[in-house]
Amino acid sequence: MKKICVLGVTGSIGQQTVDVVKHHCDEFEIVAMSAGKNIDLLEKIMTVIHAKHICVQTQEDQEYLQRKYKDIHFYWGQEGLIQIATLQQVDIVLNAIVGFAGLMPTMKAIQAHKDIALANKETLVVAGHLIIPLVKEYGVKLLPVDSEHSAIFQCLNGEYHGEIHKIILTASGGSFRQKSRQELEHVTVEDALKHPNWSMGAKITIDSATLFNKGLEVMEARWLFDVHYDDIEVLIHPESIIHSMVEYEDTAVIAQLGTPDMRLPIQYALTYPHRFPLLGGKRLSLSDIGTLHFEKPDFHRFHALALAYEAGRKGGSMPCVLNGANEQANALFLAKKISFLDIEKYVEEAMRAHHWIDHPSLAQLIEIDQWARNFVLERVGEI
Ligand code: NAD
Ligand code: MG
Repeated sequence: MKKICVLGVTGSIGQQTVDVVKHHCDEFEIVAMSAGKNIDLLEKIMTVIHAKHICVQTQEDQEYLQRKYKDIHFYWGQEGLIQIATLQQVDIVLNAIVGFAGLMPTMKAIQAHKDIALANKETLVVAGHLIIPLVKEYGVKLLPVDSEHSAIFQCLNGEYHGEIHKIILTASGGSFRQKSRQELEHVTVEDALKHPNWSMGAKITIDSATLFNKGLEVMEARWLFDVHYDDIEVLIHPESIIHSMVEYEDTAVIAQLGTPDMRLPIQYALTYPHRFPLLGGKRLSLSDIGTLHFEKPDFHRFHALALAYEAGRKGGSMPCVLNGANEQANALFLAKKISFLDIEKYVEEAMRAHHWIDHPSLAQLIEIDQWARNFVLERVGEI
């Protein structure tokens, strides 16, 4: 029985994790979980998942729940996340928190010798240079949940041999794949939230539309698979059937295909190296689909992708600036305070204004993240 701590159980990935675990309850048990502020949904999940350790975001919610459920131990805040992620009985932490907030619990869980199933890509984007050495030092597994990275992991058969020519990271192109730069000026939040192939949390859906998501994934791939940025190619593939590919030195290309369903990469991260049936999983029929399409990404129309490659290549503190500014600008767009193209504009401005440092420590990353957020808020006149 694998004992799991799910961080961000009320989110899109979190709820799909519950679904996977429910169908394999003789194999997995969620012994700890965290939610943000959606307490109604948490209480619903508590009727099917009987975890004894639960963390919420605020002290007020923690006190309310503790009064109501006496036989469960409730925690709150960052400290609470760390406490549940490092509990002795936990074997693996599935981190499905969105954003920089996922970093600290990942680090502390690794240091407590827990395997990590990582959906929270921001962890690797900002702190890959700290996380990867920690993973090696503590001898834990770092298993990708992001569908493209799970695909690459599957193509590599779980092992990196150093014979990769390049990684081909597929991208649906998001909600605005065919829009011109001029049309992008006027798109709305509602338009951006309509992703053609995946139903996901709001932040990542906006990131998919700007292509910041693909940019973050390029950086995530760089760290997970130890490849150079020149060897990571983004390929637009609107059907999201090929989840990514690896091209080897001898010209062979290995791809992983399937109908878009996040439960597969979630489940594989939990069952690796084994494969279990995916209950309700739709089988791929290529003869029904008939044709798959591919195109090069347009780095001009989607400047975010160019910014991400630039930040990744610069390394050091720059990915943290890109990530922090993007999180803030993404939230401001969702709140209808800035336009769609303002997101990449403010991210670029933050990158230009930043005093770069090499190999930032965790404490420095926390400061830089805050600086980048404040920079965007000041530019928009919010502080
Ligand atoms: P979501 O917004 O649906 O859920 C996020 C979860 O994190 C919620 O449970 C929320 O309560 C919690 N949370 C948010 N801020 C928090 C904070 N400050 N402290 C503690 N908890 C907090 O997001 P999602 O779509 O499930 O994505 C989660 C992560 O997985 C992201 O990093 C995303 O990039 C990645 N991811 C998601 C998908 C997908 O299909 N949704 C695919 C690949 C990768
Ligand atoms: Mg992805």
